[in-house]
Amino acid sequence: MTPSPRLLLTIDYESWFAPSRRYDFLPPETRFNLDEGLSRQAIDLILDIFGDSKVTFYLVGEMVGWYPELPEKISKAGHEVGFHCHIHRRLDDANEIEKDLIASAGWIQKYNVRGYRAPMINTVEGVYPLLAKHNFLYSSSQYAPAGVAVKKGDVWEIPVSTLPLLKMPDEFNAPRYMNLKLVAGGEFPYGSSFTSGLFRRTVYKIIEREFKAGKSPVIFLHPYEIVTPAGYPRRFVVDMLHHPLLFPFTFNKSNFLKDLLKNFPTSTMQDYIKELQ
Ligand SMILES: [Zn+2]
Repeated sequence: MTPSPRLLLTIDYESWFAPSRRYDFLPPETRFNLDEGLSRQAIDLILDIFGDSKVTFYLVGEMVGWYPELPEKISKAGHEVGFHCHIHRRLDDANEIEKDLIASAGWIQKYNVRGYRAPMINTVEGVYPLLAKHNFLYSSSQYAPAGVAVKKGDVWEIPVSTLPLLKMPDEFNAPRYMNLKLVAGGEFPYGSSFTSGLFRRTVYKIIEREFKAGKSPVIFLHPYEIVTPAGYPRRFVVDMLHHPLLFPFTFNKSNFLKDLLKNFPTSTMQDYIKELQ
């Protein structure tokens, strides 16, 4: 059954430095200090913006350790709490993925977390049996055209949306992340906040068109794109000098978000999947 169209708006709840790989292997204490409490301060402001619109938040596990009230507040406001890995970094090895999952097992069970989003939307096929083993219902860790929903054993993959400009791809095997191969294959990854940072109006128009075609786009934003951290993007300048492509992640997208919420119905990923089954 095709669910009624809605915007599957998701928030990858991570600290301001997460787009840069420079922080991935620092001692956890150092990352905690770098956050300076910003992710805790942002949550109330962000929840306010959503009002009655229900969405999905994928939390970085170590941040739940820093600020245990995060999943509590999100779930009390009626949103879905999902998992964005215990430590925000690229994981390509099934053993490493499972170790990371187990590190967050406590709060995953407590909040009945059923949704997984790999950092950088980059994972491997081996993730799906692991997610099934740990009671996950779905993953959203690939890029693919809106409307694609693939069952991988017992686990759904509901990808972040792309617009296929040439032809509909016919294979949805991880990894399918934002790289030259994806873009050269004619897929415009409008679900990424990188893309909405650069082409806000185009992305809005694509979403409008997808709705008319009865589709439910999956898009993501980050907390630091909704509530700009103090001293940002200054604190990110060194990273941007090395990787200018990080620049769109520093744009404030709160007006874009408010526009979307005003004009499109939303739902959590889990509510969408209920209608798929
Ligand atoms: Zn992320």
